[in-house]
Amino acid sequence: MLRLTTFRSRLIFYIFIISVFLATALSLSFWHTQNILLTEANQQLQRTSRLLDTYLATERSELERYAGIVRENLRMQEYMYVVTEINAEREPLDKLFLQQFGWLPIDNRILTNTKGEIISGNTNNTIIDPMTLNTKDGIKIHYVQTEDGVELVACSPVYYLKKLIGYVILTRTYDFEKLRELENITKGRVFVTNKDVIALSTIPSLIKKPLLPQEKNIPVMNDNYIVTQIKINNATNNNIRFYFGVSESRLLNNIKRFRQLLIFIITFGILGVLVLGLIFLRDFDKPIKQLLAITNEVADGKLPSVTKVTPRNEIDYLRNHFSNMIRSLQEKQTLISKAQTELEVLAITDTLTHLYNRRHLLEVFPKLQAQAQRDKAPLAAIIIDIDHFKNINDEHGHLAGDQCLVEFSALLRSHSRTNDYLFRLGGEEFLILTLGETTKGVHAVAEKIRKATEQTPVQYRNIHIRMTISCGICVEYPTDDKEQSLNSLLLHSDNALYTAKQTGRNKIVVHQHDDNQRKKFSP
Ligand code: GH3
Ligand code: MG
Ligand code: MG
Repeated sequence: MLRLTTFRSRLIFYIFIISVFLATALSLSFWHTQNILLTEANQQLQRTSRLLDTYLATERSELERYAGIVRENLRMQEYMYVVTEINAEREPLDKLFLQQFGWLPIDNRILTNTKGEIISGNTNNTIIDPMTLNTKDGIKIHYVQTEDGVELVACSPVYYLKKLIGYVILTRTYDFEKLRELENITKGRVFVTNKDVIALSTIPSLIKKPLLPQEKNIPVMNDNYIVTQIKINNATNNNIRFYFGVSESRLLNNIKRFRQLLIFIITFGILGVLVLGLIFLRDFDKPIKQLLAITNEVADGKLPSVTKVTPRNEIDYLRNHFSNMIRSLQEKQTLISKAQTELEVLAITDTLTHLYNRRHLLEVFPKLQAQAQRDKAPLAAIIIDIDHFKNINDEHGHLAGDQCLVEFSALLRSHSRTNDYLFRLGGEEFLILTLGETTKGVHAVAEKIRKATEQTPVQYRNIHIRMTISCGICVEYPTDDKEQSLNSLLLHSDNALYTAKQTGRNKIVVHQHDDNQRKKFSP
């Protein structure tokens, strides 16, 4: 199953769905519209053919009416009678016809006697249909093919004093020009067949080609015409047929153009959706990645500074909240590291005297030892113990004792140098560690401290408490073994201190080395 775990993949999926939807909707609309177009085209064909049908029918009835007008004209009847019965001159008949009916919208006219011999009008007698002439009653309408094209012929018997004296024949010609005119009106093609062979068409290549009534298509070059027959009801000759056709390629071209437009819309629609999606993805993806990177850094224990932005969207708000959160975390961290530093200082210093404690000695010593080895210099230790301190406590109280310890520490600090490390080893016992000093130099420092202590009584309330100290000194080169070096240094200086205590206190004793060590000191 498809699992969309990230917003990016979801968004891509949504874009895909929208694109598919767009393409499907437009394609469906294309097929639907194509059907509508085809149906519409078919209806158009039917409508136009009916229009053509009505047009031709109107022309037939008009011609029929004109023939009626001519045969009802009394002067025409009299002249025709004179010409047919008395064999009078024909010329006045021509003149009379032109005078009386010159205005009629007809192409040809013929007046005949009862035998069908022309007495006026065109000499062309191909339009005279003997079958029609046989009728003695109504006006007959028919089409006939002539040299000019196809003629619509209206033939009517003429009576004078209830006696048949001849016929009036009026025609209207359907030629190339006429078809053009009809085609301009109908926006299609008009074909006229005579005995199922095309007799008249504006497409010259089709002339004399067969076209049967049941046929629905005429292929023309690389096009195809969909044809329908025009019904002709009131004409007597059924050799002539009219057809109406529309070009399939014109219709297909319309559909093709529509399809191209649709493909254009689909392509640009999908591209538009894609581009918008990508822009949205980029707008969305970049800040999310930044936030993820920030959270990763926070998870790694770092606190990067996040600049605030003018919020425009939810992600901006989230970023600003992150910024606030990180700032407060930074403040908290500052507090914590301050407290930690304080704790660290507390851990390595003695609370009463603020000198380093024994624990710190164990940390500092390896560094000093390493440096001494690098510099090939000796390390010196002065262990100081306040003499008869118990007595001070006993005489003046524990607080006085504390005061003495604090003031002695201050004195130690003021007499020591920057390179010296000062420790309170415990109780009233102190240690000075120093690097690269000679025994003489160390002794001088110890002596200075001893003297100063002796000469500076501690003031506690109104009492002056006098103190003396005993010092044990050891100066020696450390070995590679850190622990052994420290133990040796402390042991030897402690032994010296012991000797000082044993031999009267308020004095300094220097540890005397065996031969090996002594050799190192000699120049
Ligand atoms: P000595 O000359 O042999 O060193 O004699 P001493 O009395 O100084 O030595 P001892 O070891 O007998 O006594 C040390 C005393 O120091 C015992 C203890 O009560 C006192 N002391 C240790 N730590 C403190 C402290 O933090 N404050 C005070 N007031 N007294 C302390
Ligand atoms: Mg002691
Ligand atoms: Mg003591």
